[in-house]
Amino acid sequence: MPGAPPMLQIQNYINGEFVPPVAGRYLDNIDPALGQVYGQIPDSDATDIARAVEAAEAAFPAWRAMPAEKRGRLLVRVADLIERNLERLAQAESRDNGKPVTLARTVDIPRAASNFAFFGTGIGHFASESHFQEGVAVNYTVRHPLGVVGCISPWNLPLYLFTWKIAPALAAGNCVVAKPSEITPATAYLLGELCQEAGLPAGVLNIVHGTGPRAGQAIVEHPRIKAISFTGGTKTGEHIARTAGPMFKKLSLELGGKNPNLVFADCDLDAAVRTSVQSSFANQGQICLCGSRILIERPIYEQFKQAFLERVAGLTVGDPLAETTRQGALVSEAHLEKVQSYIALAQSEGGRLLAGGRRVQPEGRCAGGYFLEPTVFEGLAPDCRTNREEIFGPVVTLTPFDTEAEALQWANGTDYGLSATIWTRDLDRAHRVAHQVHAGVVWINTWLLRDLRTPFGGMKNSGVGREGGLEALRFFTEPQNICVKL
Ligand code: NAD
Repeated sequence: MPGAPPMLQIQNYINGEFVPPVAGRYLDNIDPALGQVYGQIPDSDATDIARAVEAAEAAFPAWRAMPAEKRGRLLVRVADLIERNLERLAQAESRDNGKPVTLARTVDIPRAASNFAFFGTGIGHFASESHFQEGVAVNYTVRHPLGVVGCISPWNLPLYLFTWKIAPALAAGNCVVAKPSEITPATAYLLGELCQEAGLPAGVLNIVHGTGPRAGQAIVEHPRIKAISFTGGTKTGEHIARTAGPMFKKLSLELGGKNPNLVFADCDLDAAVRTSVQSSFANQGQICLCGSRILIERPIYEQFKQAFLERVAGLTVGDPLAETTRQGALVSEAHLEKVQSYIALAQSEGGRLLAGGRRVQPEGRCAGGYFLEPTVFEGLAPDCRTNREEIFGPVVTLTPFDTEAEALQWANGTDYGLSATIWTRDLDRAHRVAHQVHAGVVWINTWLLRDLRTPFGGMKNSGVGREGGLEALRFFTEPQNICVKL
């Protein structure tokens, strides 16, 4: 087709080289804004994973022996290369995922660079502990790298979440076998090129593409992979835990969410509305931290609702590559259908549709893409399925509450516990509510403000363990205590 961009051919990155899958099978890769195949990715299996593990094992002795500062410098070099390739990576991420290129350029790719820079420099500050007993003994704790570890990531923030696992694993001295989502493999493939350019030794990082049940499962089952760091759906996490648990692998599971926004009448209404629109619809609502249940204190309910709907009406849905687009495409046809089924469910549960609800067909090149209007419901019971199950799309509910206790009861009334947002000017209440809400990450009068040193992860069915800062470095190391009698 004249003028059409070239098909993207992806290969596995094993032992520092780009190689085809051993069985020669490939999967189609679809551009969700067009609804068309635009490339092929390896449909790797256990044989490819075994090769990656062998390469990682061979690279491990030299990588772990390398001084931490030198390892860190290599990671910082990767960060610099990500920054230097920002535009190319942002375009690739937008095309692969359907997210607005403006979002990929300002959030996804810069944060991927930050992940490498943070852990590349952070490893130099990772001190070991010692415990001194006067006249008796001194204990000191050495933290050894685990060996070969597996990193498996989802499609919603592809490069950002991929690097969030890989960077601390490498910094701590492990070698990695990593699998990005088969739905969004493009930037992981490009990362391989950047690691080559940065001079990362062969085999230290291996990137294998393919489906969860085939390539992912082979990583989880491989007896010589010592730990699995997984981000994805709760059901997949449960399955991985069932497989890896009896093998006594270390497991970090970052899973789904159904996050509440608690909006109290004394809040800065303008800021609460502005940020709630963002936390509802950023990345088409496909961020695990999106607030999908907005609980509003009754005295300001109508005022909040009107202002919220006005802003939602201003969100431009369309071509992700256009600079003015605020809402891109959903990631796949299957996911679009899932979200649409929840819109039907919300209506059958008695929800009043206040905005959206329909598929969007933009004019021009994106006419076949998977676009959906930002959708808002009210009038749903706090314990209905729409308010308990993760939709992971541009669909939110508004619900009025009368007391703090009621708001907390509803906020905590799901099986999930990832994040929550609290809007109030009352400091006492902000802290009181924050301490009682079942969520691993709580934001007060803000959303998505991140400090990479803080523990990140969920309570209840939202996960096990924490990522970020020292938590991640502890996860990717094995403590060994040594006691010396004085
Ligand atoms: P998913 O669980 O379908 O897939 C995630 C990854 O796991 C993919 O790479 C997939 O190929 C792989 N996988 C699937 N089956 C596997 C198996 N049997 N063994 C090994 N790997 C397997 O999730 P998704 O649809 O890609 O992502 C959306 C989900 O991720 C949502 O539930 C969202 O809330 C969650 N998520 C959570 C966080 C967090 O930090 N808690 C962040 C982003 C996304």
